[in-house]
Amino acid sequence: DPRIHGIKTKIGVVPNFPKPGIMFQDITPLLLDPKAFKDAVDLFVERYKDKSISVVAGIEARGFIFGPPIALAIGAKFVPLRKPRKLPGEVIFEEYVLEYGSDCLEMHLGAVEPGERVLVVDDLIATGGTLCAAMNLLERVGAVVVECACLIELPDLKGRGRLNGKPLYVLVEYQ
Ligand code: 5GP
Repeated sequence: DPRIHGIKTKIGVVPNFPKPGIMFQDITPLLLDPKAFKDAVDLFVERYKDKSISVVAGIEARGFIFGPPIALAIGAKFVPLRKPRKLPGEVIFEEYVLEYGSDCLEMHLGAVEPGERVLVVDDLIATGGTLCAAMNLLERVGAVVVECACLIELPDLKGRGRLNGKPLYVLVEYQ
C-alpha cells in the first residue's frame, strides 16, 4: 500500500532515549501530519470494519492515541488498559516482567462482556510482554481477542512469538 511509505517517513528514531543503548521509535512526528496520521488510522479501519469487533482495547499511553479513532470509525466501544492506580472503579490486573523489574495493566471490571470480540491496539511491539498481558486480561473476562494491531514491530525482539499464536498486524517494521 503506497500509504505505508508516507507513514514510515513520519516515525522518528531517537538514539539513547529513554536510556543509553535504546533506539526509541517516536510516533509524535506522525501526529503532526494529519494526512499520514489519517492514513494510519484508515489502514486499520479498512482491515477491521467488517470483523464484528465490538471492543477496541487501547494500551496506555500511545494505544490511547490510535485506539479511539479506530473504535469510532468501526462502531466499537473503547476500553483503556491502564497503568496501576489510574482507574477509579473495580479492576482486574495482570502483571508482566520487563527487562528490569515488572509492570502491570488494569482494566475496569464490566467494561468488556464475555464473548465480545476485541481488537487490542498499541503503537509498538518490542518483546511482546505488554500485548501478552493485555490479551490475558481480556481472555480472563471471557473476551475473544481477534487480533493485535500496532504501527511498529521490532522483529529482532521476537515479540510476535510471545502472543500464543494470536495474529498480529503491523504497518511498519524496524530492524
Ligand atoms: P514490549 O512489552 O513489547 O517489550 O514493549 C512495548 C511497549 O513499550 C508498548 O506499550 C510501547 O508503547 C512501549 N515501547 C517500547 N519501546 C518503544 C519505542 O521505541 N517507541 C515507542 N513509541 N514505544 C515503545
